[in-house]
Amino acid sequence: MTNADPQELAKFSELAHRWWDETGEFRPLHQINPLRLDWIDRHARLAGRRVLDVGCGGGILSDSMARRGSHVLGIDLAAKPLKVAQLHALEAGTANIEYRDVAAETLAAERPGEFDVVTCMEMLEHVPEPSSIVTACATLAKPGGWLFFSTINRNAKAFAFAIVGAEHVLKLLPKGTHEYAKFIRPSELARWCREAGLDIVETRGMEYNPLTQRYRLSDDTGVNYLLACRRPG
Ligand code: SAH
Repeated sequence: MTNADPQELAKFSELAHRWWDETGEFRPLHQINPLRLDWIDRHARLAGRRVLDVGCGGGILSDSMARRGSHVLGIDLAAKPLKVAQLHALEAGTANIEYRDVAAETLAAERPGEFDVVTCMEMLEHVPEPSSIVTACATLAKPGGWLFFSTINRNAKAFAFAIVGAEHVLKLLPKGTHEYAKFIRPSELARWCREAGLDIVETRGMEYNPLTQRYRLSDDTGVNYLLACRRPG
């Protein structure tokens, strides 16, 4: 049985043709990308690294990491976003990038300990068993390798900002993009990481300012947040 929700995958497939439209439904991913890319690069020094991007979608993060000089494999279980990602790499002439339709758990059995860096961003809150993805990511990382996760907190503020604010008031995201019950508290994600044998290096918040329409990294993990971990060497 695959650890995926067919309705979630269908949702992302339906919108796939819009993935690289910086003013469209995926605008927030485009907006946060430079922030998370720099943050990842600062920790893991991407140039020359073997990177796995789990739940890569249309490849916004994967492509940008390859452009920083890493060798990237992007995986997802939604066929159309993967096609869009491949096409984009071709059109943009991005080197050292490959995409595959394979589950993280399946790849973990095939290629354990192979990646210097594993990223899994804005994906865990769309999966039935997110802890199983975290465990697979830990298995896929080399000893001493880096792992980066990002998702959305579960509390009243996250409900107000990520669902009411982003989907209904500001209309930054299509209605139904996120389901409150699937949001993940930082303490839960941290526990899954520790249970998978990882050391937690840093937790950062990501805040949206509706006036300037910009995101920034902050200490407030109340809504969007990122976690940097390492597999002990
Ligand atoms: N990580 C990308 C895309 C985030 S959108 C970025 O941050 O830019 C969430 C992605 O997770 C979608 O592409 C969706 O198809 C994918 N996804 C959802 N469930 C998945 C699963 N079980 N395995 C792999 N990918 C999954």
